[in-house]
Amino acid sequence: MKAASPFSFPVTRATAAKLARLGLTRDADLVLHLPLRWEDETRITPIRDLLPGQTAQVQAVVREAKVAYRPRRMLTVTVEDASGVLGLRFLNFYPSHLKLFQPGESFRFNGEVRGGFLGLEMVHPRFSKAGDDTPLPTQLTPVYPTTAGLGQSTLRKLVARALEAPISETLPAEWLAELGLPELEASIRLLHQPPLDSALAELESHRHPAWQRLAFDELLAQQLSLTAARRQRRSHRTTPLPAQQTLTNTFTQALPFDLTGAQTRAWQEISTDLAQPHPMRRLLQGDVGSGKTVVAALACMQAIENGLQAAFMAPTEILAEQHYRKLEPLLSALGVRCAWVSGSQKKSERTAAWLAIAAGEVDLAFGTHALFQEAGSFARLGLAVVDEQHRFGVSQRLALMHKGSEPHQLMMSATPIPRTLAMSFFADLDVSTINELPPGRTPIVTKLVSDARRDDVVARVNEACLAGGQAYWVCPLIEESEKLQLQTARDTHAALTAQLPELRIGLVHGRLKSNEKQAVMAAFQAHEIDLLVATTVIEVGVDVPNAALMVIEHAERMGLAQLHQLRGRVGRGSRESVCVLLYQTPVSELARARLKVIFELTDGFEIARQDLLLRGPGELLGSRQSGLPMLRFADLERDVALLEKARDLAQHCLRDHPEIAERHIERWLGSRQALSAT
Ligand code: ADP
Ligand code: MG
Repeated sequence: MKAASPFSFPVTRATAAKLARLGLTRDADLVLHLPLRWEDETRITPIRDLLPGQTAQVQAVVREAKVAYRPRRMLTVTVEDASGVLGLRFLNFYPSHLKLFQPGESFRFNGEVRGGFLGLEMVHPRFSKAGDDTPLPTQLTPVYPTTAGLGQSTLRKLVARALEAPISETLPAEWLAELGLPELEASIRLLHQPPLDSALAELESHRHPAWQRLAFDELLAQQLSLTAARRQRRSHRTTPLPAQQTLTNTFTQALPFDLTGAQTRAWQEISTDLAQPHPMRRLLQGDVGSGKTVVAALACMQAIENGLQAAFMAPTEILAEQHYRKLEPLLSALGVRCAWVSGSQKKSERTAAWLAIAAGEVDLAFGTHALFQEAGSFARLGLAVVDEQHRFGVSQRLALMHKGSEPHQLMMSATPIPRTLAMSFFADLDVSTINELPPGRTPIVTKLVSDARRDDVVARVNEACLAGGQAYWVCPLIEESEKLQLQTARDTHAALTAQLPELRIGLVHGRLKSNEKQAVMAAFQAHEIDLLVATTVIEVGVDVPNAALMVIEHAERMGLAQLHQLRGRVGRGSRESVCVLLYQTPVSELARARLKVIFELTDGFEIARQDLLLRGPGELLGSRQSGLPMLRFADLERDVALLEKARDLAQHCLRDHPEIAERHIERWLGSRQALSAT
């Protein structure tokens, strides 16, 4: 049976539930629950000396409290001290407030001073009942991150209780000296209760050595747990797939082009990994259009030339089918037996495909999630390729892993991961990077055009298509309603069809059946369609080199990764490519920043780095975040030097001092660590 309180001191069930919402389930968590900022409540300022803009504390007596109704309902309180009078306003209040502020009662009020209509005032000051003789605190007051219904004073008391016990050091003193970092206990106590003379600006900027120590410890815990997971994986055994140079060679020779240097490098890394007797977990990243597909296909050939099967998975049916249609003719000519499994296939067809896969009569199976969520299984799966990995959840990755013996896995991502992110959150994976585009690409020109000039854009599309080109028209993303999004796409299609009678205009959206989608895409590919109106379903992986113009409506609503992906659909042939971003005013601050980035930059890595700056790692990592504890103290931009040190130390620590590693992980990740073992 679990004790009533998960802490070493009594905590009510209700409070414990609120603490759990903050991720605080043991004493050690409270110790590491550090303040957001601090307030100086050690001084009283006479009302006469208050200045607008200043945050200050006054000791004052209530003269009058009443509810006003104009300009809106609020509680106004007039207070005074020996030097002057101050107005207070509370917009959210309860009847109990009115009772509390009895004339003659004495309080301390703490807040920002503003020049009001009738002299100086504070809006929503914090307050506590206190007389002239109530002692002032002698330390700065910490303000903690909290949750609804859990007040600062309760939280402060709980943290103080947890801090009564000594805090043990996890790292040897020599290491700290070498790293130039202070001791853990001193750092933690300083941050909870900085002495009065602390430079608040330095503390708040997180460059203070105490913060650096915590950031380092957190990064070290992450490095330790991911590196340990990676080592553990290396201790698992699986069928090695050494290069036989048979299928891989004929495949390379059959390609209409030579591999780029970057593709060759990535391919070598993968090929070497596959030959190992433990399962590969490699991420192949490269910008949109950098040619990841052939590299993945080569990996499949290496599995197949060893007599095993491979699975090629994509997040959408369009994409999975495109991979199949593109690779199948090439591969069947080499004697590779391909199959295609789709959620929208006829049941009988799907069953037949699964039977063939299970009987080992298929070498390479293409499909979507369905491929590995369905009950079907492979006769001897050696390699799973997961395209656009960032769109799959962690759980799906795991589901695949647990099916039969562990196959090798190659994950691909066209959302480039900035180096620091790869070093931190992806430290359990090996990473290959294709950092070069195939030759002969013309750079994409990006234009930002206000929606007011939409007619000009339509005219331009007309011109380009009549001159033999093709174009995409991407309809806005409407997050609130898929139905509305569909409607918008249909309306846009109808409007453009009416406006541009000379063009053959197609429509593709997520609600079409797979064979309908495929028919439209095939027609576009065959240039039976000039202009393709699409929802964001074409975001990923579609490849039509003759399409060199793209219009994206309501670009201000889309994220950077999405815009970059969409834009990557053009610029695939030798034609000069243009991407027109239509935006509608007013544009929010964040949207403006995004549009500026996408306008100025074309390099996916740089765009991802800016995205990281704008949004933080949580959103950039998408589904992966659900499985991994986020960094609370470390900032990957600011603390890159610490990250590098943590990575080096993690290696050393796991190899030579596993007991230190264990202690450190336990302190920082506690019960959460199990989640990172992917
Ligand atoms: P992505 O990395 O975005 O998945 P793809 O694999 O779809 O890119 O490749 C984009 C296009 O580039 C495809 O048409 C592919 O055939 C072509 N391609 C790939 N590698 C080369 C190369 N080395 N030389 C010329 N074209 C290439
Ligand atoms: Mg691709």
